[in-house]
Amino acid sequence: MKICVVGAGIVGLSSALRIQEACPKADVNLISEKFSPNTTSDVSGGFWGPHLVDVEKQPAIRTWARETFDYMVTLARSSDAGQTGAQLISGYSMPKEDPWFKDIIFGYRDMTEEELRLFPEAKNGEFFTSVMLDVRSYLPWLLTRFRAIGGTIIKRKVNSWMELADEYDIVVNCCGVYARDLSNDESLQPVRGQLLRVHAPWIKHFVLCEHPQGSSYILPSAFDVVLGGTHEQNDWNENVDEEVRETIRSGCTKLVPSLQGIKSFSDWVGLRPFRPTVRLELETLKTPRKNMLIVHNYGHGGSGVTLHWGCAKEAARLVAKAIQAQITTTNL
Ligand SMILES: Cc1cc2nc3c(=O)[nH]c(=O)nc-3n(C[C@H](O)[C@H](O)[C@H](O)COP(=O)(O)OP(=O)(O)OC[C@H]3O[C@@H](n4cnc5c(N)ncnc54)[C@H](O)[C@@H]3O)c2cc1C
Repeated sequence: MKICVVGAGIVGLSSALRIQEACPKADVNLISEKFSPNTTSDVSGGFWGPHLVDVEKQPAIRTWARETFDYMVTLARSSDAGQTGAQLISGYSMPKEDPWFKDIIFGYRDMTEEELRLFPEAKNGEFFTSVMLDVRSYLPWLLTRFRAIGGTIIKRKVNSWMELADEYDIVVNCCGVYARDLSNDESLQPVRGQLLRVHAPWIKHFVLCEHPQGSSYILPSAFDVVLGGTHEQNDWNENVDEEVRETIRSGCTKLVPSLQGIKSFSDWVGLRPFRPTVRLELETLKTPRKNMLIVHNYGHGGSGVTLHWGCAKEAARLVAKAIQAQITTTNL
């Protein structure tokens, strides 16, 4: 069996790895136009926290989120934590939202009066422990693991699924927001996000805050501190906006005054692949020569990190199902 995973963001890399692990006899190729550090996944804050996905519309989100949380916690407790930046992280989220995932995260509770005094504009909020990755370390680490178990990497842009029909038995689509054209899916839209990374090693708690001007978040990762951020619907602009940078800085400094005057930073922009539901399913595409089997795994919105491991497991299950279908058809 020849299987090809298209896309080398967090979804494609984790899918390729889990498929190669689940199907050791298969020849798994990972094809991508761009690799780390040039994917949307490299822009991500790396924080486990469901965002821009709808668990009511798609209850499977809960399973994928929990599986990924458990995996990230295990990684944070393993000897690979230093290489991936996986770490448990506690902090504040305002206002209080009573989230559906409060039984997944650790130690969820209301903020105390004393804690609320740290953020004078907040009326209420919650405190909990979640988990983070440093994506720019984690993505190369996944790639190395995939190669180590026999996976092959190919740098190439795919313009149509037909290009892959002759060479591969099964194709796995992990193209993020760029799947829109390849799969002719108009329900998939970009939600642009901008953030900056600064050197502020004294920040030890995360702070997430929704306020009348938008949202501000501060995420201390293993190697720097992420300051965000924006959510611009249907905006394909991947260039840094300097005005937006200043808005992010001032929003975060208002929350945590010790960030005042921070000089060292880098700017990052990415397009979240937003869709009413994550597309994770097996499609049979009829082509003039044969029926192509495509497993779609895209549309994770602002939750690609939060869902990736659970979704990769489901993608591997669908690939195994597709292999079985191929074998049955061939033997008929
Ligand atoms: C500012 C910002 C902050 C975020 N913070 C978080 C966070 O803290 N936690 C969280 O869970 N999520 C976060 N997200 C969301 C997360 O980054 C995305 O959900 C995730 O990156 C999607 O990953 P992906 O692998 O599907 O897509 P991508 O990372 O975009 O990867 C797509 C891959 O497909 C390849 N590709 C596309 N088209 C083709 C083609 N035609 N041929 C060949 N290759 C192709 C690309 O080159 C790329 O390698 C954030 C997003 C942004 C923008």
